[in-house]
Amino acid sequence: MDPTSLTPAIAIQNLNHYYGHGKLRKQILFEINLNIYPGEIVIMTGPSGSGKTTLLTLIGALRSVQEGSLKIFDQELGNTSPMQQVMIRREIGYIFQAHNLLRSLTAKQNVLMSLQLHSGSTAIEQQAEAILQKVGLGERIDYYPDHLSGGQKQRVAIARALASHPRLVLADEPTAALDKQSGRDVVELMQHLAKEQGCTILLVTHDNRILDIADRIIQMEDGCLIRNSNPMSTTLTGDRQTA
Ligand code: ADP
Ligand code: MG
Repeated sequence: MDPTSLTPAIAIQNLNHYYGHGKLRKQILFEINLNIYPGEIVIMTGPSGSGKTTLLTLIGALRSVQEGSLKIFDQELGNTSPMQQVMIRREIGYIFQAHNLLRSLTAKQNVLMSLQLHSGSTAIEQQAEAILQKVGLGERIDYYPDHLSGGQKQRVAIARALASHPRLVLADEPTAALDKQSGRDVVELMQHLAKEQGCTILLVTHDNRILDIADRIIQMEDGCLIRNSNPMSTTLTGDRQTA
């Protein structure tokens, strides 16, 4: 199927973003245009300070859109009520550089928490256990984060993000704190689970060793998207002119 015939999971047009007020107001993102299609795995690279996290948090409805158009699942984020934003966030799995696990909860309880937030149903313990088994932590379901290695904690974070079968996964430097092999393992795991669940992944990384898992690589520099390349995106760029 021609992916460009689908509604993009993420559709961004002429997006600008600023931090600060008055004289200190500084433009951070400049005229970002980007479409990401359902099922795509896109890696975003670029130097530190180039605006990657800002863009990711805007896409994740964790920061308000100031200027331009940003649609997630065909909903304009600039026009959504706080309640609608909560609904959109429920369809997104977030994975950050620091795993952000709650230390007072076991691996299973950490995953359960996200499932309860997402569904509120009661038949979810098995779901939490199943996804922890999938990420290779079946033996450590009841361990606390302090008793898990960096790679294992990051795998719990992935399990937590993917447990509710989100339509979109946003990951900000998920391998930054990991050694080479664990970093590789966690992205392959994300790739595998995402392909299985058909979700879209946007992953920020500095890590050249994992670029090959991407369907497409995009690059930020000084707040601009300077590279948006692969055969598919060439078509997409052409598309945009008619959109
Ligand atoms: P990256 O993730 O690529 O390192 P960021 O999006 O974190 O880039 O930051 C882009 C720029 O915005 C940097 O110059 C950073 O200092 C600045 N910045 C980030 N967050 C804030 C903030 N909350 N307030 C003001 N400036 C910020
Ligand atoms: Mg960042």
